[in-house]
Amino acid sequence: MFNKVFPTFCIVIFLTTTISSSLKESVSYDGYALLRITPTTEHQLQYLLKLNANASNGLDFWLRSTAVNNSADVMVTPEAKRRLCRSLNNIRIPYKVLIQDLGRLIAEDQADTVIVPPGLEFFADYNPVDEINIYMRDLALKYPDVVSLIEIGTSFEGRPLFILRISTPFSEPKPSIWIQGGAHAREQIGPAVLLFIALQLSSSCNRNAEIFTLVNTFEWYIDPIVNPDGYEYCQIDRLWRKTRSRCPSSKCVGVDANRNWDFKWNDAAGSSTNPCSHNYAGPEPFSEPETRAIAEFMLDNLKGRLELFIDIHSYSQRWMTPWGYTTKLPPNYREQKLLAEVATKALETVYGTKYTVGSSGSILYTVSGGARDWVYGTLGAKYSYVVEVRDKGDFGFLLSRKQILPTVVETWTGVKAMACALSKWV
Ligand SMILES: [Zn+2]
Repeated sequence: MFNKVFPTFCIVIFLTTTISSSLKESVSYDGYALLRITPTTEHQLQYLLKLNANASNGLDFWLRSTAVNNSADVMVTPEAKRRLCRSLNNIRIPYKVLIQDLGRLIAEDQADTVIVPPGLEFFADYNPVDEINIYMRDLALKYPDVVSLIEIGTSFEGRPLFILRISTPFSEPKPSIWIQGGAHAREQIGPAVLLFIALQLSSSCNRNAEIFTLVNTFEWYIDPIVNPDGYEYCQIDRLWRKTRSRCPSSKCVGVDANRNWDFKWNDAAGSSTNPCSHNYAGPEPFSEPETRAIAEFMLDNLKGRLELFIDIHSYSQRWMTPWGYTTKLPPNYREQKLLAEVATKALETVYGTKYTVGSSGSILYTVSGGARDWVYGTLGAKYSYVVEVRDKGDFGFLLSRKQILPTVVETWTGVKAMACALSKWV
């Protein structure tokens, strides 16, 4: 049934043999800026859409704009910044500089000392893949009654793809919850969120009645790094997004792991057929071993009993239902929205962080070939979400390390509230 549940004595081997990126020079972002551009007319919007469609102009759209008065966040090289600002001034599109120098922001964050309470040191930093694997292994060793480490496949570069299953022992399959993160490599807060959720579920299960109910009611599946090759490559290029697969016909590397799923694949704006685009959908659906492994595992083990799916991304503080591929709403939108509001209301009580709730197509932009739509449309999960965690653009993908712990704590609070509500409905 399960691909491979690891007995603990086998686990040491992968920790010493996992590929480590040959750490060469880091890509420098000195002088790169992040601009927020807000088109106020249809003509200005069309201009921005054309810029976004051009994969070779040195612009990286961190957030796209698909409507008038809807902002785009665009990373620019120092040279592209001068050219772009001139053009924006010419056609009078309002813009502001959100981050003046990304290289300086990265250096300042690295120099900062982050203090966290004892026992939570892991959440003072963004950790490399090997350390994340060790953390997962340690949870399985420490809480063997409820935690299993499962290998579901191998990445393009040969890294094992591990997930955790957290559940009280069961004889009959139970309703399931799957939460994943790290599909987009530079969104490094995702894996931290997932590991904090895993820690809370496993460590509190035997001493907190509420958590016990959650672990007893559901099988939880935690996949912290969907795209470990890309995540590891961020040690060289902190703003890398895609997988690291090679395509013989192109010099460009990688596929967007959240455009590669076999549901309305490459069917809408927001995914690209250009291998050099940040949103390249891949040569075919599930071309990437990382997305294929998850889908095969889900089809083999969870079809008909996956209640809730959450895909953690960053940034913009949105809790989003299907659909991604269209602005149309899904059949059970009202229930999905209600449950999302349970999460965002609980989340807000922790530090006051506010989220927007709605379907991706209606509150952000369309994306096709995403995991959330596949899980909802193909696997039949009733509740399926993409969550874009902190922040709203002050740091964007470079969320400071000081914000890791508050972000994981508040997101866990939202997920827990959602699962508690769901446990009363299943
Ligand atoms: Zn993302």
